Amino acid sequence: MYRQPLTALKGVGEKKAAKLKRIGLETFGDVLTDYPRRYMDRRVVKHASEFDGDTPGVIKAKVVRKRKKVLQKSKGDLLILDVTDGFYTGEILFFSAKFLDHQIEEGESYFFYGKLEKNGPSFKMVQPDFAISSDASFLRIIPVYNATLGITQNELIGLHKQVLTALKDEIIDPLPEMIRHMGRLMPYEQAVFEIHFPTSEVGYKAAKQRLVYDELFFLQMRLILLKRNYHKPNRKPFEIDDRIQIRIDTLPFKLTQAQRAVMDTIFEDFKSGFSMNRLIQGDVGSGKTIIAFLALMCAVFNDKQGILLAPTTLLAEQHYENFMKMFPDVPCALLTSHGKASDKRLLKQQIESHEVKIVIGTHAVLQEDVKFDALGVVITDEQHRFGIRQRLTALQKSENPHALIMSATPIPRTLSLILYGDMDISIIDEMPAGRKPIKTHFVKPSKVDEMHEFIESKLVEGRQAYVICPLIEASETLDLNAAQTLYETLCQRFQHHTVGLIHGKMSAQNKEDAMQAFKQGKTQLLVSTTVIEVGIHVSNATMMVIMNTERFGLSQLHQLRGRVGRGDEQSYCFLLSDKLSKTAKMRVETLVASNNGFEVAEKDLELRGPGEVFGLRQHGIPELKLANLSKHKAVIGTVQKHIKNLLEEFQLGHPEAVTFIKSQQIDLEKWFTL
Ligand code: ADP
Ligand code: MG
Repeated sequence: MYRQPLTALKGVGEKKAAKLKRIGLETFGDVLTDYPRRYMDRRVVKHASEFDGDTPGVIKAKVVRKRKKVLQKSKGDLLILDVTDGFYTGEILFFSAKFLDHQIEEGESYFFYGKLEKNGPSFKMVQPDFAISSDASFLRIIPVYNATLGITQNELIGLHKQVLTALKDEIIDPLPEMIRHMGRLMPYEQAVFEIHFPTSEVGYKAAKQRLVYDELFFLQMRLILLKRNYHKPNRKPFEIDDRIQIRIDTLPFKLTQAQRAVMDTIFEDFKSGFSMNRLIQGDVGSGKTIIAFLALMCAVFNDKQGILLAPTTLLAEQHYENFMKMFPDVPCALLTSHGKASDKRLLKQQIESHEVKIVIGTHAVLQEDVKFDALGVVITDEQHRFGIRQRLTALQKSENPHALIMSATPIPRTLSLILYGDMDISIIDEMPAGRKPIKTHFVKPSKVDEMHEFIESKLVEGRQAYVICPLIEASETLDLNAAQTLYETLCQRFQHHTVGLIHGKMSAQNKEDAMQAFKQGKTQLLVSTTVIEVGIHVSNATMMVIMNTERFGLSQLHQLRGRVGRGDEQSYCFLLSDKLSKTAKMRVETLVASNNGFEVAEKDLELRGPGEVFGLRQHGIPELKLANLSKHKAVIGTVQKHIKNLLEEFQLGHPEAVTFIKSQQIDLEKWFTL
């Protein structure tokens, strides 16, 4: 029944169905979980004198007279009602006179719901909702749904009512009794009715609490089950001996204390006899790559192979070059989707025969025909670009290899708890010595010239700068034009310097060339749409200019800023915008105040609404509709505790737990449809 298409309802034809589809409503089930965006509280009837400012409310007023006024050049007439609530008189205005005229009669009393403007002893209401005053059903809490062109709120309310009525006897509580009891939760059916059509504030709150619990419960439950499918303990311990220490001692730099600590933890994992399952979080530039390399070397010293997965070709190549430089004696291969088929075939043979020990590459490495002789370690860099499913695919290439994930997106604690609930987490919270915090400034349009002068003075000193243009228009061509225009303007402005351009529509080769030219210092100023990759490293680039800052999310801005500040020179980030919304302003303020990725991420989570939490989609996880990972931290903790109890009951063979967990395992495939 949940899967029934909405066309099964009276009044929903093909045309309306198409419109509803635009807001994601196709089936009964979709409507059931399409929760109101907000509510109109129409329970209390007020006198005109009790209204304040912008808060809408209900008045009961008698229509003394109906008037019509012809609007100049306008399509319809204005309908004006002269009304009185017994104490005050006022006017009520409707723009759709023709349609409403026959619904309202002189001498009759009505409820009107809307904002009320007071003007001395009289008042005015424009385009209110209304009903005849004998209709008490008007005085309720009314849901307001996400709307779409061509469907009115009243139609949406009707649709939800119809669906709820149709499903009434079929709504099954998705949670096992055991959990409902542990969480002292409102029954599901009641919660669903109450969230759509609240009977009271208390009822609504309990309903929301119940449904938030459900969202977080199923999110967490499925992630835990998914991971349990893949992680099994027990393997032969790695030996960690002098050979790795010698490599560490001969690096071109000394590891920071934080790096050293993480390395030691990884050694312990390797020696433990269990599969390592560790996430390393460290801000951009904190030096995660070398940790990955050393972990790969541990595999090599134990006659195992290793994978380093990067999200893009450019990054894979950068890692490959660096690895070859640092460990020229280790047979290492680069595997991406580029290159000749015959070369790749040969490579795959060498991987399978163990001639190649380390494979650095992109998704291409995950393909089925890439087989390993003895895969010991799988490292995923910039993990947030990979889905959970992909990460786990790599782990299936051998019996429980050690898994290490490097995340350059510091994730708020609550989110890591959900996404990596089963993983050990290490944090690199220290930058290599000599790094100076990036100076971040907001630049308003009147200060752009001044900024250009500053940039020029640094270019003269030999420094380089990135200029980032976001995707602004719906059309790629227009975006391209914007980048192109900016490029031309900057060529003019910086005539004595070389300016480069890189954008998404360029061929891979041209992009590569443009990036190389910048890396080698042949271009000093690089105008780019956001294609410059996370992790790309040009230490001479000390300036980052971000155009239309309002278009970027907070974490994204922090990531972009991380492209600079990688050498010993003082670096700068300039945030430009001519129209900052309130949230955009908070983002800018956060960045100006903090260089710390974890602080930025926490703030990011706070500034986003429910369902907007970054990353979930990328992880292949459905959006949350009511739950907010920042606001509902406590619920996450509770949910995790309850799931733990449930899994213990499952182990003990408790029938309810067993039935439930089994049904969830069947559902898993549907969830992660990556
Ligand atoms: P990220 O954590 O963003 O991946 P990288 O591993 O790319 O950072 O490191 C950034 C730069 O810092 C690289 O050039 C790297 O060689 C250098 N680096 C890493 N660790 C140290 C260290 N302990 N001392 C000095 N430089 C370091
Ligand atoms: Mg990196």
